Amino acid sequence: MTDFLDIAVVRIQRWLSRAPHLRGRRGASTLIRKATAAGEVAPLLVGWEEVAERCTEAGQIDGVIPLRLNTDDEERIAQLEKQLVAHLRALMPAASFESKRRSGTSWLDAQLRTPVRTEWPAPTAEWPLGKRCDWCAEWSANEQVPVGSDGKKALCIDCRQRTAHAGYATSGHADLQPGTERDLLDRWTERFPDRPMRVPDDFPELARLGETDDATHLATIHADGNAIGQFRYETHRALRKDARLDFDLPGAIQHATWSALLDGLQAATDPDADILPVIAHLVGGDDVLLSLPAHRAWTFVVELQRGFSNYLTESLTAAGLTKVPAPSISAAIAFHHYTHPLSANADLADELLSAAKKEHFGSAPALAWHDRTHEGPQPSGRPSIRLDQVGAHWAELNALAGLPQSTRKNLAAIARTEDGQRLADQIKRLGLTEVVHRQVTDLLNRENPLNLANELGMVRWWRGDAR
Ligand SMILES: [Zn+2]
Repeated sequence: MTDFLDIAVVRIQRWLSRAPHLRGRRGASTLIRKATAAGEVAPLLVGWEEVAERCTEAGQIDGVIPLRLNTDDEERIAQLEKQLVAHLRALMPAASFESKRRSGTSWLDAQLRTPVRTEWPAPTAEWPLGKRCDWCAEWSANEQVPVGSDGKKALCIDCRQRTAHAGYATSGHADLQPGTERDLLDRWTERFPDRPMRVPDDFPELARLGETDDATHLATIHADGNAIGQFRYETHRALRKDARLDFDLPGAIQHATWSALLDGLQAATDPDADILPVIAHLVGGDDVLLSLPAHRAWTFVVELQRGFSNYLTESLTAAGLTKVPAPSISAAIAFHHYTHPLSANADLADELLSAAKKEHFGSAPALAWHDRTHEGPQPSGRPSIRLDQVGAHWAELNALAGLPQSTRKNLAAIARTEDGQRLADQIKRLGLTEVVHRQVTDLLNRENPLNLANELGMVRWWRGDAR
């Protein structure tokens, strides 16, 4: 048995969205990468070889320092742990950390055991508070810092680290600091060497990449793999049965997430575009937080969900693990005006995602959505949709999206009256019977996530395609 110690940034979404501005989040996502990168951690482990080494089996996951322990000298282990947490704390003063200690015959085996946890929570703001930080409004500002084109801002130490690591996206690839967006462009270039791209620099620019130049709405998308623990368990069991087999599980998840994300972006990007319609906040393992123009969200998410399971199935098959079923990924979309703070929308997407996963017990790729502009700040309680249901309704959704806005409004009004006969007549009048060939009771069923009213809500942010 070997002991493993993972030191990780926890409650990442919460910390990322502490600063409401994009620059603050961009810097935060760079910091997470930097703080836990193998190259950054290696010097800290020099001289500690007899205590611990980086666990290469765990792969590279942003926000996690995975260690394999080489001693049972608890005092020395605690010293190293403290030193690594201090390193994380220096870069991310307001983030929360947690270390998890587990034993196992391998890293994968250890992942299946219940860990012994140690929490390193974020320090609370000192009291009495001086002038509040212009960005997070949570801690005291203790320095005036020039912040991009915004002039000077009074920032706390956490937000100062963020702006120092934010970089600029507009100048393209070379000027981007290593971070999620740099990774995205690297991976895009690797796949499409003849289609150089940049990423938008701010939310208004991102919104304008939607349907029209005056588009103002964004989709905050949070996706997360389903039942990954179960997947680990089954992989481990299959590997134990046949010693000739080998499988890099973290590597396969990372590959599936990124490849599916690129598939989604490719589908959501115009063929002649030189800018990707996305701001990537976090891509870590099977966990993804992104902003896209509202009209690009559905196409993107559906491709992401399809791709994730397909790529994992491919990797499993290549490794001879044909009996292990690939997990799926669930996603939530919050539609909102670009001026609406991302932190609130990331929270909303998070809430929708948890509910969707519970609804389907993590056994199906579920998709939840909420339109903050048209439905208000609170989730409506609408059930989530399964990916295969979206696929089955794609033609119907496309047809509805193709109707003039006034016609859609009118149809929605009839759906609200729940007058089945009137609805059937209207569908006939609009020449939609070919595509919308469901019973009116099904179209009006409140429990149906793809009832007509919900579909009309979905196609408000739809981009017709030839699928
Ligand atoms: Zn601050």
